[in-house]
Amino acid sequence: MPNIFILAVALSVVIAVFMAVFTITNHTVEKSFYLILLSVANLFFSFGNLLEITAPTLETAFYGVRVQYLGAPLLVPLAYLFFRDYYGKKRFSARQHALIFTIPAVSMVSLQLYPLVRLHYGDIWYSTNGQISSIQHTDGIAYLLGILLNYICIALGLFLIISHIRTDSKAQRRQSFVLLLGWLVPLASNFFFIFIGGNESYDFTPVAYVSALAVFLYSALTQNLLNVLPLARAQVIDGLEDAFIVCDADFHFLDANQSARRLFPQLSRMVSGESLEGVEGFKPQGETLIWKDGEARRYKITANPVFQGTKNSGICIVFRDVTVESHLLEDLHRQATMDALTGVYNRGTFFDLAGQTLTGDGGQRALALLMIDVDHFKQVNDTYGHPCGDAVLKAIAQAARTHFRKNDLVGRYGGEEFAVLLEDLSSQQAVETAEKLRRTIEEMKIAFQDKTLRVTISIGVAHCPANRRQTLEDLLNQADAAMYLSKSGGRNRTSLYHGDEHTV
Ligand code: GH3
Ligand code: MG
Ligand code: MG
Repeated sequence: MPNIFILAVALSVVIAVFMAVFTITNHTVEKSFYLILLSVANLFFSFGNLLEITAPTLETAFYGVRVQYLGAPLLVPLAYLFFRDYYGKKRFSARQHALIFTIPAVSMVSLQLYPLVRLHYGDIWYSTNGQISSIQHTDGIAYLLGILLNYICIALGLFLIISHIRTDSKAQRRQSFVLLLGWLVPLASNFFFIFIGGNESYDFTPVAYVSALAVFLYSALTQNLLNVLPLARAQVIDGLEDAFIVCDADFHFLDANQSARRLFPQLSRMVSGESLEGVEGFKPQGETLIWKDGEARRYKITANPVFQGTKNSGICIVFRDVTVESHLLEDLHRQATMDALTGVYNRGTFFDLAGQTLTGDGGQRALALLMIDVDHFKQVNDTYGHPCGDAVLKAIAQAARTHFRKNDLVGRYGGEEFAVLLEDLSSQQAVETAEKLRRTIEEMKIAFQDKTLRVTISIGVAHCPANRRQTLEDLLNQADAAMYLSKSGGRNRTSLYHGDEHTV
């Protein structure tokens, strides 16, 4: 029956192998660099330890110790460097690296050169209880300095984690607690071994290191510690205006920055893994209007896949406030397409849209084109002034917009001339609706400052029956001709172009 302690150590070696292979094959970001070294060092340490405790002789046990020391002195400094990277601290320079690894290097070399060099171990001897063997030793100077270095690194690591636990957001703090747990496991085991355990044969430190590394890896994987949202970036992202939400491929919440929490207060009460579907106003793409600080704001939503290597491991959804830009664009569009004074289509847009209507339906639908000209408009300007003339043009345009149907095209054709394109009307109906507008304008009282005035309009109607093609230019010429007929007929009337024009 194999000893349970040996089984535990053997199992930890298997896990160490798995983790080393896993970290090496899955490393995708710079930040996993120290974790890879750590997992390899950890593998040497645990495998060497297994060789040591199962060795039948001093020589074979010391062979195990040699293997252990290919990794053991590096473990704690590497873990500290991993934490620094993880929290976005500046990488040490080559010189600082040399400084931190001097004592481990001396230990590693002098251990391999034992008994020629006795800086690490003074003397060694073999000890066994029949089942578990170990190498006992007297401490060399490098051994003692190594312990000192380890405790300094442990203290610095603890300081780093605890200072982040104090200042970070909730999600980040959870990650720090996991790291703290991983950091404390080997420390606790070491304390136990030194102060309580007493039995030199049962040193759980290598098993504890494997467990610690497993904890680091676990947090790296489940909390997307390394690849999806490293903390250094999270801190930058937290300060950004754009709202960031990180979720998995099925829209289960993982993390969000401060802007996102302000935009969707529900997120602050959510835990990792909850579906984002229930979040009010949330959608994963397109555009959305969200009520914020008493006004509706427009957000453009982009979903960016987050890759770990080639594996799609999550989505980062970004909400960008485009309210100002969209208003600017709307303004630009309006300025480019509408007449600034009257609010109807400008001449260019009227031509474009009318042209599309004429060609769009293949000439199948009946069309009517109205040309509207204000009567004696020059007199209005001359009598009441130009601003009053402007007010009259606005009032007529407004009346025309409300008079015609939503899909009818109303445009400002020139100074005091408007053109209207109507679909699906007979010539009779077109003349009727034109007449109706003419009467409305005739009866309309236009107020300007302390004056009230009335104007009339003359209208020319050109009609194109269904299934007959006609160019816009032809229609405009015909409507214009009919309009002049209205003028010469005495104004304030509607005329229909009918080959040889006649008035109604
Ligand atoms: P008719 O009955 O024959 O159409 O006479 P009319 O005075 O309306 O025609 P005319 O073409 O002689 O005058 C049009 C006037 O419209 C001349 C121009 O100063 C004025 N006008 C053109 N654009 C604007 C504008 O944007 N605002 C103002 N207030 N007047 C304008
Ligand atoms: Mg005119
Ligand atoms: Mg006129």
